Amino acid sequence: MSDNYDYIIVGAGSSGCVLANRLSACGKYTVCLLEAGPPDWNPFIHIPAGFMRTLTNPNVNWLFQAEPSWGTDGRVIDIPRGKTLGGSSSINGMVFNRGQNMDFDVWAQKGNKGWSYSDLLPYFKRYENRLGDHNKTFRGTEGELPITDLEYRDPLCEAFIKGAVEEGIPINNDYNGETQEGVSYVQRTTQGRFRVSSARAFLNPVKSRNNLQIITNAFVTKILFQNKTAIGLNYSKGGPRGKKITLIANKEIILSSGVIKSPHLLHLSGIGPGKLLNDLGIDVVHDLQGVGMNLRDHFAPRLTARAKNIETINEKARGLKLLKEIGKYLIGKQSIVNLSPTLVYCFWHSNEAIRNHDLQMTFSPASYKEGVQSTLDNEPGFTVAAWQQRPESLGWVKAKSNDPFDKPLIQPNYLDAEEDQRVVVAGLKLSRKLMHSRALSEYFDYEVYPGLDKQSDEELLQIARERGTTTYHQMGTCRMGPKTDPTAVVDNELKIYGLKNIRVIDASIMPTMLSANLHSGATLIGEKGSDLVLGKEPLISADLKY
Ligand SMILES: Cc1cc2nc3c(=O)[nH]c(=O)nc-3n(C[C@H](O)[C@H](O)[C@H](O)COP(=O)(O)OP(=O)(O)OC[C@H]3O[C@@H](n4cnc5c(N)ncnc54)[C@H](O)[C@@H]3O)c2cc1C
Repeated sequence: MSDNYDYIIVGAGSSGCVLANRLSACGKYTVCLLEAGPPDWNPFIHIPAGFMRTLTNPNVNWLFQAEPSWGTDGRVIDIPRGKTLGGSSSINGMVFNRGQNMDFDVWAQKGNKGWSYSDLLPYFKRYENRLGDHNKTFRGTEGELPITDLEYRDPLCEAFIKGAVEEGIPINNDYNGETQEGVSYVQRTTQGRFRVSSARAFLNPVKSRNNLQIITNAFVTKILFQNKTAIGLNYSKGGPRGKKITLIANKEIILSSGVIKSPHLLHLSGIGPGKLLNDLGIDVVHDLQGVGMNLRDHFAPRLTARAKNIETINEKARGLKLLKEIGKYLIGKQSIVNLSPTLVYCFWHSNEAIRNHDLQMTFSPASYKEGVQSTLDNEPGFTVAAWQQRPESLGWVKAKSNDPFDKPLIQPNYLDAEEDQRVVVAGLKLSRKLMHSRALSEYFDYEVYPGLDKQSDEELLQIARERGTTTYHQMGTCRMGPKTDPTAVVDNELKIYGLKNIRVIDASIMPTMLSANLHSGATLIGEKGSDLVLGKEPLISADLKY
């Protein structure tokens, strides 16, 4: 095996897989893709309902945890992240949601030339293969990533949608099209009975290319610099006691290690706030204050109701009924085994004066045991979750020690900003209205959580603090911004300020939160990032006439 490559990519997640595909496509360069986790052989990765298993499986999941805070009432929140080929796209909820057009215009307005919605739309279209209803102006059909409509129909979902319409929320047939606002079933990165992770979409078809080397169980421990130029890296094959290996990059190192590990790896390699690194006994290569700062996430409290007159997923997922569902799945019929955790999406606003809707709500004909992420209730139930689309609270990720195998400290500071508190309370009120709609009344027995005795804003905020949790959308820890932004880590070509031959290309470069689930955005960053690395002319911006 060679020990030098033109491009070395660290992390085979949503961004890393598309990058590896595009950089190796022309055949001119040698590309090495390093992944800390194992190959994606675990069958629960590929079966949609396997989500419940991979969420807690240390073989394919980093199982990080956030530090306690006021916003979470002192609770520790689990932060799962994928650790296998496909990264988090191999363990995520499979929902495809790009976000509102204006989110990207905000990125451009913040000084990131080339990152407006019109600039980025051609890149979204390049990677997606929209199967189902769409408007060609907004959706692509030639890319590798299939985006399908959820086929499963459940009377509870139908009633929830009807109830939202009663409330004045319109049905939107394509929330990834011209506008996001409205209610509909989710679109997913699945095909037939299986998840399509980034590894499946972008790596599998090209893994026999001679110029692409994919190495799994390769835990990168340090980036090596000569002065301020990245020249290579060290990795351990097989974890802390594994073989230590050095690779040299002829052209560039690309960090696609995700929102938690990209800044962590930079800290371990001497890039970050000088004082933090000194305190940890790490030699400072480059003092860059923003590395690990600007962490944001979507924080969602969930309301649950007991259901009547209907069977929910809670009962279908047990005993003989589960066997029946597995049977249906195997012969390609509608089955709960082919479901993601969320079935219906609803985008609305917290206040009539707000036109760029700031609330997202989701509906599932299932409910979880209190405080447990992946165990269903014994009784029939359904869940409405609500979150603020663009939270203002800012957190951080910091190395805890100079040991690369020590997990970093993570503090999202959920609900720190007053605006986040206001919107989350508005979200709970609207979710409650939707739960108590006339259309759902046939199936609604009673409100389990929070319970009707909790009515005031203070009580609802307390509920959010006690019961809210991540929706797994961390971003921003290596923020893209202009040179004048002291918190920026990369420029609009994703090059790290003050260093040479190293970029960050993953969800950590997002300057502000998208009103989205972030797999689509991370894939986009890999897609556009590949053109930046190869020095290609940008795709022609979309002419949207607005
Ligand atoms: C449980 C869960 C549910 C989610 N649900 C959805 C959803 O339904 N829809 C959606 O759009 N988004 C969802 N997301 C979010 C989305 O999947 C992520 O935002 C996106 O995948 C991030 O892409 P990335 O490329 O930045 O990082 P990742 O995909 O996390 O990839 C980073 C990769 O780098 C590897 N790595 C890290 N450190 C090292 C190292 N030192 N050496 C070598 N390799 C390393 C990791 O193992 C990983 O494979 C979910 C996420 C999770 C965790």
